[in-house]
Amino acid sequence: MGNPNYFPSIYCTYMTTEELKTALAAAVKGEVSDDAATLKTLSRDTSLFMRMPELVVYPTDADDVSAAVSLAARSAGTDMSGGPLTTGVVISFTEHMNHVLEVVSNLWVRPPVDSYAVTEPGVYYRDFERATLMKDLILPSYPASREICAMGGIVSNNSGGERTLEYGKTERYVEELDVVLSDGSQTTFKPLTPAELEEKKGLQTLEGDIYRTVDSLLVANAALIEEKRPKVSKNSAGYALWSVRDPKTGAFNLAKLICGSQGTLALWTKAKLKLVKPKEHRAMLVIFLSDLNILPEIVNRVLPQHPESFESYDDHTFTLAVKFLPQMLSQMGFARAAKLGIDFIPEAAMVATGGVPKLILMAEFAEDTIQEADRRATVAQEALAGLAVQTKIEKDEKESEKYWIVRRESFNLLRKNLHGLVSSPFIDDFVVPPSSYPTFLPKLNALLDEYKDNMIYTVAGHIGDGNIHIIPLMDLTKEENRQVILDLAPRVYELVISEGGTTTGEHNDGIIRTPYLTMLFGAEMVALFEATKKVFDPQNILNPGKKVGGTFEDIKRDLIHTAASH
Ligand SMILES: Cc1cc2nc3c(=O)[nH]c(=O)nc-3n(C[C@H](O)[C@H](O)[C@H](O)COP(=O)(O)OP(=O)(O)OC[C@H]3O[C@@H](n4cnc5c(N)ncnc54)[C@H](O)[C@@H]3O)c2cc1C
Repeated sequence: MGNPNYFPSIYCTYMTTEELKTALAAAVKGEVSDDAATLKTLSRDTSLFMRMPELVVYPTDADDVSAAVSLAARSAGTDMSGGPLTTGVVISFTEHMNHVLEVVSNLWVRPPVDSYAVTEPGVYYRDFERATLMKDLILPSYPASREICAMGGIVSNNSGGERTLEYGKTERYVEELDVVLSDGSQTTFKPLTPAELEEKKGLQTLEGDIYRTVDSLLVANAALIEEKRPKVSKNSAGYALWSVRDPKTGAFNLAKLICGSQGTLALWTKAKLKLVKPKEHRAMLVIFLSDLNILPEIVNRVLPQHPESFESYDDHTFTLAVKFLPQMLSQMGFARAAKLGIDFIPEAAMVATGGVPKLILMAEFAEDTIQEADRRATVAQEALAGLAVQTKIEKDEKESEKYWIVRRESFNLLRKNLHGLVSSPFIDDFVVPPSSYPTFLPKLNALLDEYKDNMIYTVAGHIGDGNIHIIPLMDLTKEENRQVILDLAPRVYELVISEGGTTTGEHNDGIIRTPYLTMLFGAEMVALFEATKKVFDPQNILNPGKKVGGTFEDIKRDLIHTAASH
């Protein structure tokens, strides 16, 4: 049975905004707002798009979500793909549904049992981590936007970050999700044994339909799904049909499908997430690379030493960092700034002498003792003997912090220092096999070079797993620059796909990449995504046009035309 208070959007279209607001306000315990300034804020995330919503609902619990389900979900709104944007009603989780409900440490239990946290979606990651660290635990798939994003988006985008190389993405940690389905009914998706699955398939409800249809889709199309499963180490494109059935245990878990589905299949209201104990000490091997041809060889030699992170940033980022260092330092506070200023001098000298390396690579090794972390960094350094690179080991985490600051701030460095231009994520997150770097990178650079009059860009990324972030700055008041977004993206994606890569490793499809899913997966697989969407959301009310049904027209229509406001 659906929730009796539920308002299908199909009826909402016949209501005026005022009528809808009154009806929603009567149905939920939280607030409903049409305040113009609030709606303007919610019309943007960090993507290239604007969609002005009609109303916003601030639910207090899962029943409120059920009562107002015909909406686009939003947590912190830091999505770069347009995922949380809608012209309908936004349901915003950060106001009330922002509690970490439980953190359970099983670190000392034998035989080993997973530690976990239970959280609501509106908790900012920074607050979530504060709670988990009290038990010496973390969610290691946190994204680079860790200070500004919330758990709702981390799960719904299947986020990853600097430690994903060692620990995997969020999908690995999602165990159970309490969800509100498109008919307003509530259930929990968690691992099911074959007998439990059969029981669920017997339900004469939307939930029963979902289990019956997804199971038969998976069985009937097993070969196709395996063939199309992205073979690179991380992916957020499409629906993760390949993750529903655990190949080792046979458990069937729809929470793995909801993870990364951008609020298009169900809205989640409570998550049980596995946690790990972070290693205490780190040593960093810094590699200054001028010849890109040897990059794959470096990756090949470093990866067997199992760095926890293997990140990179390019010469553009490095030059900007040196140029704007004083400004960055002053923003960080004087004491820390002074220290970093001294530390940066050797690298700054490289800029002065024109010897800026093309890429700076940071391989960080984590262990329980500093001696062991240092030993592993030294082994990795020795493994590079004979290659034309400069290397150095930073044993002290305070010493390595300056590299992390530049890497984490690479995007902000550009954004904050080139006023009037808009940061434009449209080729921001593709993944290629690291073995393809020698063929891929020169072709990519040649392509980007064709558009150098239209945009300024840096390249940074998770070099160990082939995930590259390019977020150009552009003047989007000019039609020819907006056209570049539509012209360049398919050319980059064609190249990425020809190397066996994927269009998005962590940022997801949203408005900007949904139209490329056919290019990436082929028509047959996209038909499976459509069938999946149809059974979860037969009336297409949950975040329409994302993951399924999004078009290039959507991109053109909703692309912002303005200059940056900062
Ligand atoms: C500077 C910067 C760096 C970034 N770095 C990374 C990175 O390293 N890795 C990475 O993965 N991403 C990164 N991102 C993108 C983004 O910050 C993350 O994906 C983040 O996890 C999104 O969280 P959010 O709470 O802001 O989600 P939102 O933007 O609010 O929503 C994201 C998506 O999740 C859906 N959603 C939200 N809550 C729910 C819910 N309760 N139920 C169902 N659906 C829901 C929304 O509809 C939307 O489609 C970065 C963004 C910025 C601006």
